[in-house]
Amino acid sequence: MNLAESLTSPVFSVAGKTADQLGVDAYVVGGYVRDLILKRPSKDIDFVCVGSGIQLAEAIAKNLGKNIQVNVFKNFGTAQIRFEDLDLEFVGARRESYRSDSRKPIVEDGTLEDDQKRRDFTINALAISLNQKSYGELIDPFNGIADMKKKIIRTPLDPDITFSDDPLRMMRAIRFASQLNFDIEADTFNSIMKQKERIAIVSMERVIDELNKIVLSPVPSYGFKLLFHSGLLKEFFPEMVALHGVEYVGNNAHKDNFFHTLQVLDNVAKVSDDLWLRWAAILHDIAKPATKRYDKTHGWTFHGHEDKGARMTPGIFRKLKLPMDERMTFVQKLVRLHLRPIPLAKEVTDSAVRRLLFDAGDDVEALMTLCRADVTSKNLAKVDKILRNFDLVEKKMKEVEEKDHVRNFQPPITGDEIIAMFNLPPSKIIGELKETIKEAILEGEIKNDREEAMGLLLKVAKERGLKQSTNNQ
Ligand code: ATP
Repeated sequence: MNLAESLTSPVFSVAGKTADQLGVDAYVVGGYVRDLILKRPSKDIDFVCVGSGIQLAEAIAKNLGKNIQVNVFKNFGTAQIRFEDLDLEFVGARRESYRSDSRKPIVEDGTLEDDQKRRDFTINALAISLNQKSYGELIDPFNGIADMKKKIIRTPLDPDITFSDDPLRMMRAIRFASQLNFDIEADTFNSIMKQKERIAIVSMERVIDELNKIVLSPVPSYGFKLLFHSGLLKEFFPEMVALHGVEYVGNNAHKDNFFHTLQVLDNVAKVSDDLWLRWAAILHDIAKPATKRYDKTHGWTFHGHEDKGARMTPGIFRKLKLPMDERMTFVQKLVRLHLRPIPLAKEVTDSAVRRLLFDAGDDVEALMTLCRADVTSKNLAKVDKILRNFDLVEKKMKEVEEKDHVRNFQPPITGDEIIAMFNLPPSKIIGELKETIKEAILEGEIKNDREEAMGLLLKVAKERGLKQSTNNQ
């Protein structure tokens, strides 16, 4: 196969000519070649040459034009160039060998074939020659093209060795399957099942990088099912696996919360690419196993799972090395509030809507997306009815927000003002007065404006025996 026609950027011909001038063989390899053939646009190009990658990068930069900067990483023997919107990486062909306690290989210079052998999957082991004599020629020693056609992920060498050498590859196998909607070839998958425990030698950051790519893939449930059935998920995220299973008392079963969660995640994925909204879907029922009870009158219940789930969220984020910042608090907030819109769909009152707008603030749209995704009944008429009721809730939210502006509620009278008005020391009563005003606004007893709030404050203060200070009369 010759792919010269597909190499549209001038960097490829410049790279080929430069390699000829230096008398070295040069190739494009890995993910860029895979994505070129799968017609997935990619901006990251990896070049391998049989010789010094740094020297090749420096010569290419000169030939590409003035002022092209080369970033050299001497320790790794690599170099990087930014050209237009492309990120070009250069390295010499290498051979790798591993010790059992580390995923860091011992690296030596090698041939192109050595370099292709060290790659994780057949579809990632393709190379395109850039030298003039063979420009565009595809080098596919492990039948990567055939695997692409069959849509399978397979390791080039014995999968037991491939995964044992670098267990991160198990996550990568599932990530590529999920991103590309490929199957994992049976021997490769069996090997993941066998070697799953070795994931422990990989840093959590790397595992989660791959997991997040699964979360962001078009149908993330597919990747999660592979993680689950291989046993890998339990190794680093047992809280999610604990959602799996159905328990019976007599004929009463509850639903399988693992597969329900995956359905919610897919529903969110259909309408949003937001990684953190997808994480809220993953965690929304995470406390169901911990709160599960059976009660003769009510059957299975999971009372308080939303609050407990919100309390569990920081611990899970910390353990999974997810960011402990506003992204975590966003997920936590959605987990805490995910049941709140449901009763509104039955009976929608202004005050309940105001309270929800107040509590969810700017995240109310994300919350409604999660709630809609959470409707996973098999009874389509029922689903349709609930979703139509949510339409009404959202309409009501718009009306109430336009009227009352509680979404980003700012107290109409500040604590400092109350202190000054009544000549009070900073104390509990100030919080209580502010709370009374806020409650009255949320209940709709007064409007969200300063004049009405002031009227109420004076009335309540009088009842509590507070005197206005003279300079504030
Ligand atoms: P993406 O850009 O979507 O992350 P990619 O395959 O380009 O996918 P990179 O991590 O940039 O991912 O890797 C580039 C290439 O390096 C891969 O295509 C593969 O050939 C090789 N590679 C990367 N990680 C490994 C690994 N852990 N083991 C073996 N080969 C790897």
